[in-house]
Amino acid sequence: MNISENLIEWYSYNKRDLPWRDTKNPYNVWVSEIILQQTRVNQGLDYYYKFIERFPDIKALSKAKIEELLKVWQGLGYYSRARNMHHTAQIITSEYKGKFPSSYDELLKFKGIGDYTASAIASISFNEQTPVLDGNVFRVIARLFGISESTQTNKGKKKFKQKLYELIPKEDPGSFNQAIMEFGALQCIPSNPDCKTCLFNTICFAYNNNLVSDLPLKKQKVKQQIRYFNYLYITYKKQTFMEQRTNNDIWKLLYQLPLIETNKKLTILELEQTNEWKDIFQGTKPEIDIDFIEKKHILSHQKLNTTFYRVKINKTNSYLLKKYMKIDIEQLSTLGIPKLIENYFKEINK
Ligand code: SF4
Repeated sequence: MNISENLIEWYSYNKRDLPWRDTKNPYNVWVSEIILQQTRVNQGLDYYYKFIERFPDIKALSKAKIEELLKVWQGLGYYSRARNMHHTAQIITSEYKGKFPSSYDELLKFKGIGDYTASAIASISFNEQTPVLDGNVFRVIARLFGISESTQTNKGKKKFKQKLYELIPKEDPGSFNQAIMEFGALQCIPSNPDCKTCLFNTICFAYNNNLVSDLPLKKQKVKQQIRYFNYLYITYKKQTFMEQRTNNDIWKLLYQLPLIETNKKLTILELEQTNEWKDIFQGTKPEIDIDFIEKKHILSHQKLNTTFYRVKINKTNSYLLKKYMKIDIEQLSTLGIPKLIENYFKEINK
C-alpha cells in the first residue's frame, strides 16, 4: 500500500476548510503555524483572522509596535511567539527585502522558527521535501509503524524523521505534511480512534497488535512550579496604576497591575507587612475592599495562586508615580494584558 498517496487522497476528501489552506504564501503559512503551535484550531481561527486583518503582510508586522502586536495576541498565551515573530518580521524586512527565504536551512536561522515551522513553510510554500513532526504526526507514525521511542530524545526524533523522509513524496511534500497532521487531528486521535473505519487498519502495527492505547509512549510530566501572586488594583480618582513586565519570565512585555509576589499565601495583614507594600503606600493607610478575588491560573509549567486586592488611595506618592504607569481606568482596554488580569477586570465590571 502506498501510504503517502492514500494519505493525500484521504486529505482531499476530509480536510477541514481553513483559511491558511487556500494559500502557499509563506507569510500566511508562518502566521498560522505559529498560532497553531500551542492552540486548538477553533480558538486559533479567530486569532488568525484578526492577525491577518491587522497585519496583512510582513511589512505591516515589522512596522507594528510590539505593544500592539501583544494586544492582538492577548489571551492566546505563550507570548514569546509574538515577540519572536515581531523580531523575525523586522529582520526579513530589513535584510531580505521583505521576502521569505525559501529553504529550510535559511528559515531555521530566524528567531522562533524551529524545525517544525521551517519544515512546514519550506514544504508548503516552496515544495521542499522537509517532513513536519508535531504531536499529531508523532502519534500516527508511532502507531502505524510500532515505534516506541519518545520524541523527547534526539535519538527518538531522528527515528521518526527517518520514517517520514521515507514517506514524503517529491511531488507535493506540502500536501503530504498537511495530510498527515490532519489525519492525526481527525482520524488517529489520542483516545479511542475509530480504527475499524481507518483506511490503514490492515497495515497498522498498533491496531494489529492491540497497542493503540499504548502508543505513542506517554510524555514524562514536567514538574510544575507553584507561585503566589498578589495583585493590587489601586484606584486614584478615575485612574489606576500598571506596569510592563520586562524580565525574562512569563508574559514578558505585557502589562499588569502592581504585583507583590510571595513564596506562600499571605493574609492581608501579612501582605501589609511586606517591604513592597510599604514602598507602594509609603506609610499611608489605603482603603482596602474587603472582597478579595482569588483566582488560580494554570500555565504549562506553572500554577499561579493569585489574589486581587482592590485598594483606593486619595493621594499618590513619588514611588508609585516613578515605578508604575498612571492610566485612566477607561483606557485599560488599550493595553495588552494577561488573560488572568483580563478575567479579573471582566469579573469586577459585571
Ligand atoms: S488503525 Fe487506528 S491506530 Fe492505526 S492509524 Fe488508523 S486510527 Fe490510527
